[in-house]
Amino acid sequence: MTEAVQEASSLAGDIVVASGNQGKVSELARLFGQLPVTLRPQSQFSVTPAEETGLTFVENAILKARAVAAQTGLPALADDSGLEVDALLGAPGVRSARYAEGSDGDDEANKSKLLKTMKDVPDGARQARFHCVLVLLKHPEDPVPLIAQGRWEGIILREPRGEGGFGYDPLFFVPSHNVSAAELEPAVKNAISHRGLAAADMLALLGQG
Ligand code: IMP
Repeated sequence: MTEAVQEASSLAGDIVVASGNQGKVSELARLFGQLPVTLRPQSQFSVTPAEETGLTFVENAILKARAVAAQTGLPALADDSGLEVDALLGAPGVRSARYAEGSDGDDEANKSKLLKTMKDVPDGARQARFHCVLVLLKHPEDPVPLIAQGRWEGIILREPRGEGGFGYDPLFFVPSHNVSAAELEPAVKNAISHRGLAAADMLALLGQG
């Protein structure tokens, strides 16, 4: 048996998705639909989420997965992701969810702050990218976490466009499709996004790609 097939077969059963972000949870459910496992959101358990004290997406994803695996006794899949804007020297980065101080996960406040901060950034200098790191832990002390990543290039708009997606999607223009991420069909977003690419990377690690 190859290592990848061993990984996949040891994963039959439930995996808890270590996220309270409904947008992420729905995208991950579709992206991992082919796995012979049941993905269960952490909201089905009584879980105290980890504090995201890491300096990198990888550290924060491990912290989140470890906390959930420890509290549920089940394997855990975590997604740590965020937006890196060149003109802001990489901000909001790992702080994307809490960019607007004091409002963790407040998408409207985060988007307003981004637009305001970038109001004087000229059209040719609004390059940005989403990053996604996925971590799968078989148990809280798993010494070999599976780590996958993806990135997605785009341009920050001057006003929101579209109703779909979540988070910064309405401000993220996708040049290849000439629309914002919030104007893409969910299946199209999943095929090209940072999360879609990270999921493909993870499925390959599991021998399911
Ligand atoms: P995390 O929960 O700390 O990983 O926060 C991720 C942050 O990045 C949240 O503010 C999300 O809204 C944002 N983010 C991550 N992925 C996406 C995406 O696919 N679209 C829009 N925003 C995203």
